[in-house]
Amino acid sequence: MAISLSQRVINLLRGPEVGRIRFSFPDGAAAITVDRGMYHRVASAIEHRRIGIFPATDPALIPSDAGATYDGTPVDGGTIFIRAGKAWGRDLEGDLVHECTHAGFDVDKRNTLTALNDEAAAYVAEVLYYRMSSAPLSYWAGMVGGVRDVALPVANALLHEYQAGNTPTPAVDPVTFNALRAVIPLRPVYRGTVVTNGGSYIRNG
Ligand SMILES: [Zn+2]
Repeated sequence: MAISLSQRVINLLRGPEVGRIRFSFPDGAAAITVDRGMYHRVASAIEHRRIGIFPATDPALIPSDAGATYDGTPVDGGTIFIRAGKAWGRDLEGDLVHECTHAGFDVDKRNTLTALNDEAAAYVAEVLYYRMSSAPLSYWAGMVGGVRDVALPVANALLHEYQAGNTPTPAVDPVTFNALRAVIPLRPVYRGTVVTNGGSYIRNG
């Protein structure tokens, strides 16, 4: 029997690379943690159908340049749209790690988190995934307005911390993380959205 799209995403979230993603980042006075526990909660929400997974091509549901997108507006859950017909591979998996980071903040009801920091953390997780899974640069670099390339130094510093093994959950380097925060609002897709006006995504669990 063919494996379902939902089961593929669950397997990704419970897999060894996503299991190694761990970092904290500042959001106002708080520090927010991204780790395997969060991705496991997303996997479980997919299993219990609190988060639905659907293929889509309608630009109202998925931007034309996106492999996947997360919609947090449904109450008690959300929806992940995956570009219909897109082949499963490292590039789509990275997109899904990005969207499942947004989903994690929704499931965890991180209500104080700004959309800008939400995006920055999602790009860091995504690039960590590409680096840890040895995805070719052609799969991910030089796209999405170069934002992933600016997330790369943040991810590399975290990988260095993982190797050093001194801190169970290292904090992001503030200088490179702020550089990432500065470049995200320049992407046309975020113009006039909560990402550029200091707002937050709808996050209702
Ligand atoms: Zn995003």
